[in-house]
Amino acid sequence: MRYLSTRDAGQSATLSEALARGLAPDGGLYVPSAFPALAARDFDGATTLPEVAVRFLTPFFVGDALAPALGAIVGEAFDFPVPLVALGTAEDAAVLELFHGPTAAFKDFGARFLAAALARLPRAASRPLSILVATSGDTGGAVAAAFHGRPGVEVVVLYPKGLVSPRQEQQLTCWGGNVRSLAVQGTFDDCQALVKAAFADTGLAAERVLSSANSINVGRLLPQASYYAYASLATFRRTGRAANFIVPSGNLGNVLAAVWARRVGLPIGELVLAFNENRTVPDYLATGEWRPRPSRPTLASAMDVGNPSNMERLRHLYPEWPALKGAVAATVVSDEAIRARIRTDRASLKQPWCPHTATAAEAYARLTPAARAAAPWVLVSTAHPAKFPETVEPLIGASVPVPPALARLLELPKHVREIPATLAALKDALA
Ligand SMILES: *Cc1c(COP(=O)(O)O)cnc(C)c1O
Repeated sequence: MRYLSTRDAGQSATLSEALARGLAPDGGLYVPSAFPALAARDFDGATTLPEVAVRFLTPFFVGDALAPALGAIVGEAFDFPVPLVALGTAEDAAVLELFHGPTAAFKDFGARFLAAALARLPRAASRPLSILVATSGDTGGAVAAAFHGRPGVEVVVLYPKGLVSPRQEQQLTCWGGNVRSLAVQGTFDDCQALVKAAFADTGLAAERVLSSANSINVGRLLPQASYYAYASLATFRRTGRAANFIVPSGNLGNVLAAVWARRVGLPIGELVLAFNENRTVPDYLATGEWRPRPSRPTLASAMDVGNPSNMERLRHLYPEWPALKGAVAATVVSDEAIRARIRTDRASLKQPWCPHTATAAEAYARLTPAARAAAPWVLVSTAHPAKFPETVEPLIGASVPVPPALARLLELPKHVREIPATLAALKDALA
């Protein structure tokens, strides 16, 4: 399997090269040169996430130096539970809980997989590997957790100062050692632009091997596609029907993984993208006009993205607007609707939604009864509500118990440096 740049199919790479580079040399994003075809029966006997993931990912690893290590990578990365919990409604609906990893958000899947893969790549010891990661809140913590203490690798986390929740900030800054945390005076889009500028800077690239752990890295999308394979197979085996998914979306990495899993042939029906008030993608689906804009702060801050990177991959797959419009649907959920949904659903659930997951729950509530009955629905839960107590607790009038892994991180001291959103300041911080 080769991986091609979205901007020039002539720029191809092996999987190992794509993982190590993150971004293609021409600034494009790597996509598989072809999608393998797999049907539900190809997964007979595979029931756990690691078992499903190995079958799903084998064709994506064919011919690569990492192929023999796939089982070990999957086993190391996916060592926490992935419950698919019935919602308890009259119609068939379930919640895919992706928040049982070390930093309590779905980013742990991609970050841990990428770390396990990069750790197995041979590289020259003379040039350290620097992983640059721009984060809107959860990615940076997951990447830092996954790489912390690994020899020969340095992680640089860039996050928008004041625009992440206090507990997210704690997870971004509690590491030290081989992790540098930079609070950038700007937005997530500024952080993302800085990472891109660092890649384009020949001086930086000469002294270190730069890589990116953002969802632009194909090594994050592949493991995410595995949990869609897993959840869709579990639903198909139970009901004989393809599942529809609702995905809280920002930079589109999570939903793109679902699109890829569906393209491979997994039993996945409709994909509904739930957005906060950052409506670049919903507006594009409605009008056909691509108009990126600055991000706006919302309660679902990890989805505050005005110029989602993975749109380039989605449009590569569906170059024509009508086709793209047919492939995914979108809903916009205001902060007010997020609050109301957390309050309303609290009564019927064991635990409240996090603000991001609440956008998916609201999208589900907006479906017509006929649509709800038409297929089994899976609501993708992207983070644990205990990461956002300042939003969730006043709404439900109760405290949210903190999962033990998260509680441990909250005790650690902070290591952080504040920088202006300029390449000069970033280079200075890296020096
Ligand atoms: C990152 C994130 C999202 C958005 O996911 P994308 O892949 O950027 O679309 C949603 N919810 C949470 C909790 C996140 O951390």
